[in-house]
Amino acid sequence: MTNDTDLEAFGYWKEQWKSRPLDMKSYQSEAQKTAIYGINHAVIYPALGLAGEAGEVANKVKKMLRDGDFDRNAVAAELGDCLWYIAALSRDLNISMAEIAMSNLEKLMKRKANGTIKGSGDNR
Ligand SMILES: [Mg+2]
Repeated sequence: MTNDTDLEAFGYWKEQWKSRPLDMKSYQSEAQKTAIYGINHAVIYPALGLAGEAGEVANKVKKMLRDGDFDRNAVAAELGDCLWYIAALSRDLNISMAEIAMSNLEKLMKRKANGTIKGSGDNR
């Protein structure tokens, strides 16, 4: 649970991040402090939350078609919510976000090298 000390530390970190990029490990560590679901809901809670937040991203973008205007900041906020759930889910799976990011980049670079960026299927 987040307490006053955490909030004070976050304020300090936030100032530090103005001068250097936030790394995934730091994000995941800070985000974890706000996770309030029980261990009995590990994996399933963040997986469902991620699906919900991805839907919120899609809905914000959809409104661009319906209303003709695009709220970039609202989409960015929903992407942040997605990020939180990705951090929580990867923590529950005991895989760091950095490992996931690197593994994803490796996969994409192989596809690029093999000329299989286009197409479908997980293993191409
Ligand atoms: Mg949201």
